[in-house]
Amino acid sequence: MPTAPHADTAFRAGLDAVRAVEPRIAELIGQELTAQRESLKLIASENYASPATLLAMGNWLSDKYAEGTVGRRFYAGCQQVDGVEAIAAEHARELFGADHAYVQPHSGIDANLVAFWAVLAQRVEAPALRRLEARHVNDLGEADWEALRQELGGQRMLGMSLDAGGHLTHGFRPNISGKMFHQRSYGTDPATGLLDYAALRETAREFRPLIIVGGYSAYPRRVDFAKLREIADEVGATLLVDMAHFAGLVAGKVFTGDFDPVPHAQIVTTTTHKSLRGPRGGMVLCDDSLAEHVDRGCPMVLGGPLPHVMAAKAVALAEARTPAFAGYAQRVVDNARALADGLLRRGARLVTGGTDNHIVLVDVSAHGLTGRQAEAALLDAGIVTNRNAVPQDPNGAWYTSGIRLGTPALTTRGLGTDEMDEIAELITTVLTSTDPGASKARYTLDADVVAKVAGRASDLLGAHPLYPEITL
Ligand code: PLP
Repeated sequence: MPTAPHADTAFRAGLDAVRAVEPRIAELIGQELTAQRESLKLIASENYASPATLLAMGNWLSDKYAEGTVGRRFYAGCQQVDGVEAIAAEHARELFGADHAYVQPHSGIDANLVAFWAVLAQRVEAPALRRLEARHVNDLGEADWEALRQELGGQRMLGMSLDAGGHLTHGFRPNISGKMFHQRSYGTDPATGLLDYAALRETAREFRPLIIVGGYSAYPRRVDFAKLREIADEVGATLLVDMAHFAGLVAGKVFTGDFDPVPHAQIVTTTTHKSLRGPRGGMVLCDDSLAEHVDRGCPMVLGGPLPHVMAAKAVALAEARTPAFAGYAQRVVDNARALADGLLRRGARLVTGGTDNHIVLVDVSAHGLTGRQAEAALLDAGIVTNRNAVPQDPNGAWYTSGIRLGTPALTTRGLGTDEMDEIAELITTVLTSTDPGASKARYTLDADVVAKVAGRASDLLGAHPLYPEITL
């Protein structure tokens, strides 16, 4: 991660100012740094932003209202925010080779909402307005407006199933996307665990969705986006790819050609805080035909933009355009492979038998454990993971049969393939030493094993300090 020589002074001064007003908050901020430093973080969706990215967020840009887009604001005095947003968007376009970038979404869910409504506006609302010879929805009479509302609410979405690694926002009922769209899922081949493109094509032909969503939260392989676009074109769907998890691998040119979604999908969404290593936030990339609809994100579905976070996105995107970041992205994947190989050699069962991205999905039922037991036992020993369903999971989404591991954070700290092999050993030790209890949440793990693994994990982290220039 790029270091900042004076970050120590800056963070100290900032914490002193907070402490003077509300010492408990200063205390918690300090404790969070200690916790981050002391945990062996294998959560696939987390990372450590650079000091420059963090510092770009803590300032008076936060005080400005800036509804609208660059040069077209609903508030006066947005010259600086215009500059910030334009620079962030320019970095995003250049980095990903996109026609258009919208950097306002506050998170991945928000980015998806912007994208869904942009497609609905382009494919449903705009043709209806043309048909009715109206310029704006406000020009419609009650009956026409009601008919359009029904039409907007009657559209179909095809997304990856949750147990194959999809995300709640891809049309599932607990999320607004499942309430907006009629949804069907595509999944993976039960024999291999790999995405079943032929079955996806069949479902698409039969279901005729308006939107096919590509992208995942827990699928450990690359996806062929050229193939997805071919299927989308065949059935008249818009291809929307949510690259929240692997945006850093696209940015770092590890995923290129058919595996880079940007040249293939009409619209791509992402978070900025996972493998991309930026501030917590979201972003939408799209082709020119969707740009005007995407730019209506605020106030259509987003609250006012966060100029300070857009500034931090600009900093992180500038970092991601450097050769150093490309090296980082490659190491993330090398580390995931080393972790997977180390686990396999020690007898683990992995979904799809390995990885070619940053994710390793371990089926812990091979050890007689639920995901919940494995997650808790590993945490006792200082290894932070999260439980995750595996395909056709008999334990459901709460207890699960899997744990998801990811390498972006530890790679940022500088751990390499040798350390990944050692971590595989530590994980195996915990999983093979944990006895499942009477319920799916209970387990016992010998205190000596906990102490031994936690001690070794701490040594590994000690050799790769987090934010070494910050002495807090
Ligand atoms: N999309 C995918 C694929 C994700 O994995 C996630 C978060 O885990 C999101 C969207 C939501 O991102 P956020 O938590 O920033 O709203």
